[in-house]
Amino acid sequence: MADLAVQRGGAQRRPIEHVPALAPLVGDYEARRRSFTWEAARDWLRGDDEGHLNMAHEAVDRHAEGPLADTVAIRFLSRVAPTTELTYAQLREQSDVAATALRRLGVGPGDGVCTLLPRSPELYLTVLGTLKAGAVYCPLFPAFGPEPVVERLRLGHIRVLVTDTQSYVRKCEPHRDALPDLRHVLLTDVGDAEAPAGTTPWSVALGAGATAYDPSTFTVALTRADDPALLHFTSGTTGKPKGAVHVHEAILAHHVTAEFALDLRPGDVYWCTADPGWVTGTSYGILGPLSCGVTIVTDSADFDARRWYRILQDERVTVFYTAPTALRMLMRAGVGLAREHTFPALRHVVSVGEPLNPEAVVWGVDAFGLPVHDTWWQTETGAIMVSNFPGMPVRPGSMGRPVPGVVAAVLAQGPDGRAAVEGGRVRVLGPDEVGELALRPGWPSMFRAYVDDPERYAKAFADGWYLSGDLARIDADGYVWFIGRADDVIKSAGHLIGPFEVESALMEHPAVAEVGVIGKPDPLAGEIVKAFVTLKVGHEPSPALARELVAFGRHRLGSVAPREIAFDQALPHTRSGKVMRRLLRARELGLPEGDLSTVERPSAQGGEGES
Ligand code: ATP
Ligand code: MG
Repeated sequence: MADLAVQRGGAQRRPIEHVPALAPLVGDYEARRRSFTWEAARDWLRGDDEGHLNMAHEAVDRHAEGPLADTVAIRFLSRVAPTTELTYAQLREQSDVAATALRRLGVGPGDGVCTLLPRSPELYLTVLGTLKAGAVYCPLFPAFGPEPVVERLRLGHIRVLVTDTQSYVRKCEPHRDALPDLRHVLLTDVGDAEAPAGTTPWSVALGAGATAYDPSTFTVALTRADDPALLHFTSGTTGKPKGAVHVHEAILAHHVTAEFALDLRPGDVYWCTADPGWVTGTSYGILGPLSCGVTIVTDSADFDARRWYRILQDERVTVFYTAPTALRMLMRAGVGLAREHTFPALRHVVSVGEPLNPEAVVWGVDAFGLPVHDTWWQTETGAIMVSNFPGMPVRPGSMGRPVPGVVAAVLAQGPDGRAAVEGGRVRVLGPDEVGELALRPGWPSMFRAYVDDPERYAKAFADGWYLSGDLARIDADGYVWFIGRADDVIKSAGHLIGPFEVESALMEHPAVAEVGVIGKPDPLAGEIVKAFVTLKVGHEPSPALARELVAFGRHRLGSVAPREIAFDQALPHTRSGKVMRRLLRARELGLPEGDLSTVERPSAQGGEGES
């Protein structure tokens, strides 16, 4: 695509400000659901009269031209270095420079640029600079080992990698021959003299960009709404990670959902604990919140409950977006620690990534004075699809209701647990019937491809629906209840058992911190339920406690309760914090463990980076 020139601040730009100010959703969900359409929203957003649209412009530049220019866009917290900040105006200029630097390296539309970095300014500038150059940004978890790094660089045909020396030397350099597409490696922590062969210091590349940069002539790439912008690999919970491609107009969904579901608005101080290595850390760690004009705080330290409460308190965080696994770690640290702090500014606590046990929702009230609101979405959906909206009564255990503009349904299952497609048709189920959760395509952040895998992409759709691979039911009021991933559901003595229900029930026992449940083959029942249990501090595994948990489960759940309990203080998680039930099952049954590229090492859970 030609990199056509539009002068900075050109009159033809019509930025997102044209989205009519959306009042908070309180009590207003139904009206908004009826009146909202993506088609109308697309009209608000169109970047210029010819339909060009660039994510980075929408997220940052338009604020830099308005009253938010001097507002802090990102505040970088660190355990080992002083806090630094970038205002919207600085972020615009520095990302222009990063784009100029990338262009000077020959990076252009469609090229892949990857980061393997902690949450540092270089990471954010690379994301925005890449988008402004019209290239495709692909994040990697900094804690990935060599194999997952090389695999993703290869699959994504990545042209530029931005990382630090240690990561490069350990994870990439030995495999450089296997990466013919990789032209440039930029290292953020070295000067010219020390850079290993085949690499360029980031400072040198950026310096060249700064020299060449002229704000009066700089142009953001005139990308089209449907041009690729982001490549995100899925978490690999159920198997080999897939590379989902998203396009520039996804920013519209990031923006609208950040406003609807996260309740973000200018003046907010917002903290998203997700690493930008997965989709939450990009959609809601960078693009959505910036498009709403908030101040993002970001922390590069490992999880530490006391530090997290301090940040929430001292930074006066208003909206906090995190994951069930992090909440469970906070719960393990005890509510007393939360009560040593106060959170008068905190307005909204939100969760994503895994089933949010009702226990955690209620605990939020104890710890923060607020229930935790759940949101459901996937790498493939690019943005939140179902949410317990602010102001809407929370039903603990439910993921909430579809985002305005999103049509969700539950489809009848076939024998493999996925939606049954007969003669190209599916059957939509009624209230409270369990089946595969499906969405009507058409929202802007829908993935447009699995990289190099068109067949798999085609299989994700049937009869005009996107098939999520998750099982759910939708109640008569439209609340969506998660049952489990289609692959994780247990079939026991004629019952279909969702692991979430069993795990949530066991979580109510005072000794239990976390649970992963699997089906174990059984000659009589087909499968029996086995639970792997992590205990809270102060509780020891014992046969007596195992018996007590079995009885506790039976009392709550009846016949679907676990028959076997194993204690495990280090349940396997993905790096995005999900319990890997497929791995528990494979280990239990002595089966091959499959793709392990995204397994988290237990000690690094919940955070990355500094030591
Ligand atoms: P892979 O597709 O590689 O197996 P993954 O599905 O875990 O990995 P992601 O796209 O990061 O990769 O995660 C999306 C999945 O996470 C959803 O399909 C769902 O199973 C789970 N999930 C996300 N949010 C929620 C939620 N609020 N409640 C229950 N499950 C959730
Ligand atoms: Mg998935």
